[in-house]
Amino acid sequence: MLTDGALSLDLVSALAGDRPLTEAEKERLNEHKNKCGHRFYSDLLYSITHQFFPPEVAENLWNQILNHKTILSVALERNVRIAVSALDYLSNITSNMGSATLVGEANIEEIIGLSLRDGLTGLFNHTYFYQQIDFEVRRYIRYGTLVSLVLIDIDDFKEVNDTYGHREGDRVLAEIGRTMMRIERDSDICCRYGGEEFAVILPLTDVHEAGVIACRLNMELKTHLPDGRVVTVSIGVASSGNSTKTYRDLVERADAALYQVKRSGKNRVEVAA
Ligand code: GH3
Ligand code: MG
Ligand code: MG
Repeated sequence: MLTDGALSLDLVSALAGDRPLTEAEKERLNEHKNKCGHRFYSDLLYSITHQFFPPEVAENLWNQILNHKTILSVALERNVRIAVSALDYLSNITSNMGSATLVGEANIEEIIGLSLRDGLTGLFNHTYFYQQIDFEVRRYIRYGTLVSLVLIDIDDFKEVNDTYGHREGDRVLAEIGRTMMRIERDSDICCRYGGEEFAVILPLTDVHEAGVIACRLNMELKTHLPDGRVVTVSIGVASSGNSTKTYRDLVERADAALYQVKRSGKNRVEVAA
C-alpha cells in the first residue's frame, strides 16, 4: 500500500535490478508479496507511475516493462532505470499514460499525501476511500480475499457544534482521527468518509474479526468534552459475501446496519447479516 512505505520507488527500482537488494529489503518485499497476492504488481506499478493498474493486468505489464528495460539497456549500452523504462513503455508503446510529467519523488509524495488525506483529521479522504473499497471488492470477487467495512458516525454531533462551537467540534473530529490512526493495524485503511462520518476498510478480515475491531473502535472513540460530557459513535459493519457484487453493496449494507444503530439508541455496533 502507498501508505506503509514498503514500496518506495527506490525499493521497486532495486527489485528491478537498478541496484542490489539488501537481505532486509528482500524480506520486506517477500512479506509484502505474501500479504498482497496479485495486488503486489499493482503496488509496484503504483510506486512508479502513481497510476492504478488492476491486479489482473499488472503482473503482465510489470514483466513487459522489465523486458523493455532490458531492450533499452542493451540499445543504449548502459543501465536504463525502471522508472525511465516504465515511462517509455507506458507512454510511447502502450499509451497507458497520457501526458506524463517529471516530478521528483520527494515532491510527489507530498503532492499525493495532500490530495489523498483529509486536512483536519489526517485520515484518507473519500476519494481514496472509494478507490480502495472498489479495489478490495474487485479483489474479493476475483480471488475470494475477504474484505470488511466499518462505517462510523458521531452521535449527536450537531449538538456538540451548537453547544460548544464549531472549533470544539473540529477538535473532536481531529481527536477521533488521531485515535483511529493509533489503533489501526498496518493494512487497515482509515478514512474520513464525510463530515462527521468515518470508514475503516479491513482487507483480509472476516466478519467476526471486523465485529471485534468495531467494538474496540466504539470503546476507544469516546471523546471527552470540556464539561466532562462524552461524545459517542455509532458503527455499522458489513463483510464481503455471496451477495457482494460491487463495493456499493458493501457500503449499503454497512450503512443500513449503522442506520439500525441510530434508530435504536446509538452508541453501539451492528454487524450486517
Ligand atoms: P446523529 O446522531 O443522528 O448522527 O446526529 P448528528 O447530529 O451527528 O447528525 P447530523 O447529520 O444532524 O449533523 C451532523 C453535523 O456534523 C452537522 C454538521 O455541521 C457537522 N459537521 C460536519 N462536518 C463538520 C466539520 O468539519 N466540523 C464541524 N465542527 N462540524 C461538522
Ligand atoms: Mg452523519
Ligand atoms: Mg452523526
